[in-house]
Order: sequence, then structure tokens, then C-alpha cells
Amino acid sequence: MPKKFDAKKHFVSKPGYEVIPPMVVKGRNHAMTLMSNALVPGSNFYIETGWVFAMPDPPTHIFEHSHDYDEIVIHLGTDPKNQEELGGVIEFVVGGQPLIIDKTSAVYVPKGVSHGPLTWKKFTRPHLEFTIMVGAGSLAQADPGGHEKRKGQKK
Ligand SMILES: [Zn+2]
Repeated sequence: MPKKFDAKKHFVSKPGYEVIPPMVVKGRNHAMTLMSNALVPGSNFYIETGWVFAMPDPPTHIFEHSHDYDEIVIHLGTDPKNQEELGGVIEFVVGGQPLIIDKTSAVYVPKGVSHGPLTWKKFTRPHLEFTIMVGAGSLAQADPGGHEKRKGQKK
């Protein structure tokens, strides 16, 4: 593949909405896919984001799962006066260890490491959640939130 920028192919100005949530979750917008092989063929990146704009109901809606790719999970606050403040408290179990996320932060989850569930404990201000996977170019490969399966459920 030629290594040059082609704005017609490489600029994603319209996100994809391919994620089908496993359940109705109040307080979250439909996740947007901003990069994938469907959007930019050959990119081999999967990036998804979405707003959490109120206390999610149910507070646990991303369950234990793992991937064949490394994943970076970012939670980003929206307070312009304190960009490190998340605006919520989330418990994220990674490798069996509960992490408390209450700041703008990134978690690197190596491939094969079991992670989830994520449980919102508190909400004070809208924040964003990003999933970034290098090498996984499609939702089927990335399965970023374990959307397509649950613990104990077959793929
Ligand atoms: Zn994941």
C-alpha cells in the first residue's frame, strides 16, 4: 500500500455506528466508531468513543472479556477548568484487580488479559470513553466492550 496521505480515503468525517449494545443503557450515547478498516481500509486500527452524559443505568453494562489484541481504554473528563477531573467514579476490573478510575486516565490492557466488568459508582459531569486497538481493524476483531459475548456465553 502506498504510504501517502489521501484525504478522500484517510479523513473520517462521519463516524460509524456499528456497535450494537447488548442492552439498553440510559445515560450513554450510541458508541461512535472513528477508525476501522471499514472506514479507512488497511488502517488496522479500531477506535471507538462515546459520551457518558448521565449516571449509566444499569451501572454495569460492560462485562468481563478479553481480546486477541492489546487495548487502550481512555476515560476523558470534560471540565475545561480541570481536564484531569473525570466527573465520575468507575470501577474497572483488569486481570482480576479492581481499579478505581476517577481521573482522566488511560489503561493499557495487554492482549489476552481478562478485563471487566466496568461499573459506574458515581457520576458528576459528562465524560468520554475511548477504546483504541492497534492491529484490530474491525469491530468483529476488536469487540471492544465484549459487546458480542458475555462471560459464560459463546461467541
Ligand atoms: Zn476490552
